[in-house]
Amino acid sequence: MGTTATHCAYCALQCAMTLTADAGGRVTVGPRDFPTNRGGLCQKGWTAADLLGSPERLTTPLLRDGRSGPFREATWDEALEIVAGRIRDTQRAHGRDAVAVLGGGGLTNEKAYQLGKFARVALRTKNIDYNGRYCMSSAAAASNRAFGIDRGLPFPLPDLAETGAVLIAGGNVAETMPPFVQHLAAVVDRGGSLIIADPRRTATVERATLHLPVMPGTDLALALGLLHIAVADGHADRAYIQDRTTGFEETWRAAAQWWPERVERVTGVSVLAQRATVAQLAAGARGRGAVVLTARGAEQQSKGTDTVTALINLTLALGLPGKPHSGFGCITGQGNGQGGREHGQKADQLPGYRKIDDPAARAHVAGVWGVDPDELPGPGPSAYELIESLGADGGPRTLLVHGTNLAVSSPRGRRVVERLAALDTLVVCDVVMSETAALADVVLPVTQWAEEDGTMTNLEGRVIRRRRAVAPPPGVRSELEMLTALADRLGRGDRFSADPETVFDELRRASAGGIADYAGISWDRIDAEGGVFWPCPSDTHPGTPRLFADGFPTPDGRARFVAVEHRPPAEDVDADHPVYLTTGRVLQQYQSGAQTRRVPALAAAVTEPHVEIHPDLAGRSGLADGDLVRVVSRRGDAVGRVRLTTTIRPDTVFMPFHWGGEQAVNRVTNPALDPISRMPEFKVCAVRLERVVVSQGGSCGTDGDTGPEVSPSRRSRPTADWSEGGSAA
Ligand code: SF4
Repeated sequence: MGTTATHCAYCALQCAMTLTADAGGRVTVGPRDFPTNRGGLCQKGWTAADLLGSPERLTTPLLRDGRSGPFREATWDEALEIVAGRIRDTQRAHGRDAVAVLGGGGLTNEKAYQLGKFARVALRTKNIDYNGRYCMSSAAAASNRAFGIDRGLPFPLPDLAETGAVLIAGGNVAETMPPFVQHLAAVVDRGGSLIIADPRRTATVERATLHLPVMPGTDLALALGLLHIAVADGHADRAYIQDRTTGFEETWRAAAQWWPERVERVTGVSVLAQRATVAQLAAGARGRGAVVLTARGAEQQSKGTDTVTALINLTLALGLPGKPHSGFGCITGQGNGQGGREHGQKADQLPGYRKIDDPAARAHVAGVWGVDPDELPGPGPSAYELIESLGADGGPRTLLVHGTNLAVSSPRGRRVVERLAALDTLVVCDVVMSETAALADVVLPVTQWAEEDGTMTNLEGRVIRRRRAVAPPPGVRSELEMLTALADRLGRGDRFSADPETVFDELRRASAGGIADYAGISWDRIDAEGGVFWPCPSDTHPGTPRLFADGFPTPDGRARFVAVEHRPPAEDVDADHPVYLTTGRVLQQYQSGAQTRRVPALAAAVTEPHVEIHPDLAGRSGLADGDLVRVVSRRGDAVGRVRLTTTIRPDTVFMPFHWGGEQAVNRVTNPALDPISRMPEFKVCAVRLERVVVSQGGSCGTDGDTGPEVSPSRRSRPTADWSEGGSAA
């Protein structure tokens, strides 16, 4: 099929690449120049095509009677008839909301839109949410309340290289999206500052000019302290605060309580480092510019929205948003994390970032969909709350899953598996037999990235084209086809299309007039212009690469300071669970690992999860490098291989989350939710460490196992004497 210009299968950087298919159908990846990656690809991108021909690829629908029995192959007609029948039976017996949908941040805009519409029009259920709830929801909530809009970056990524100072709170782009680093390196090469707040001295920190080794769960206190210094030391931009913002006085009253010595005691970040951070950001603000970015480390907390808000407050005090090469942004994680939250698969949203409880929004979207506004359900619960309700009294009894491996990616993982088992029917659409698919009654094999056309919206808010490079295997259908066929069986097929460009054109109409307005973006324009930034309300509008230069989309045109207070993590360390656990990613794996664990080169590069432990903590815990360790919280446990390192605080351990079964660290993490964003507290919980002893010839067993001998261990003890002088840069 020749060479096709497209973008990567995985993260929100959406690196540009070419795919070249040879006569035998083998596909080769090549780099392609684009403003975000400038020809760079990471190892995941280089190997992305390997999954296309994987022997583990699902190529036929699978059914089974009873969750423990074997799957049998089925035709699409048989499988869809069964799914439609289960939906009808469930809704007849238990009501419309008894069928639920969970989507994913990797779906194209067309699929995310169609999924939201399918839930509201074909199923007429309120119960739909998506895994972006675990990714961007805190940053989105904070941005909306401060700026009246939620777009990951307010400017094109290359603007970053032009700025004078960057602070990243809780992000490790050197491992999650390596080509991003060239933009940060340019800042440093020009004499600028790169400051990273992270409990670990990560690969990104190695490139920084200053490391803030913040204790997990205390980023909010650090942000309040930085605002305190900015104001107290005379760095606040009084004219900007006066002219372009509201709410400063109340916010300052809260931050005034966070003097630097108090912040050092709570966060572990020295007064010296706090002052240096603010001085460098302020110098940037007076010169080439300054940028504050957040990522999951700061956001995936039960106070994630307030943490991001506090960092936005800092940028407002320094007068950054709307100025050249300056402002606040969040680094989106999933491939279409941005577009996925704009077009209606979120529990409280309709396309165009409209609120589902807004009568005008309902009327507009219902008009596009050809239904009565009163037919549309109201807002539903967030992803984790929805999962908690599965199979419970009054909760959903049938669940459709698209593009998410919730058995691995949700907190308190064993509970999640229990809730899935309590369902009457679980239907999973996927490309491989993920841990969630393996629990299903019906598994439907769907197209993957290089086999479909569509659009994605990258971390900058730039809408780009995903192009089909190869035909899918026989027996595989796109989710657009699947949803249309299922809607047909439910009596609403006339309102759905399986053609992605037709779906996108409808999305444009549905989003028109909304915050995320795509009305002027067409596939032809994207092809001609290499991408278009939303909002873009008309065919003649140029798109909006840079936000806020002329004001903020709030009722009075001003950005809003919002006063917030620090509070401890939902779960703190104690005698039984004396160590903090934080989680994250490794370079060679992506999200739940369902795809990347099946790419041979990536699987070989990282065969199992490791647990990063400082030698001091390991010594107190009786652990040595290479030991297996069981990480135990009040909710469950996970096993990983000890990796001794001085790059982590001695009161904290780190474990990546790309594996399932007893290697799944999300069996341990805390589902305590942020009160606004409903984001679970993935990034901090209290654990103890138990050395695992594997009997000769045995392997590490699961809870209650009868296999290998597992001996509990000496308890680890907390430490109080580590400071940034230890392992910090
Ligand atoms: Fe793909 Fe992200 Fe790697 Fe780029 S950085 S190649 S988009 S996984």
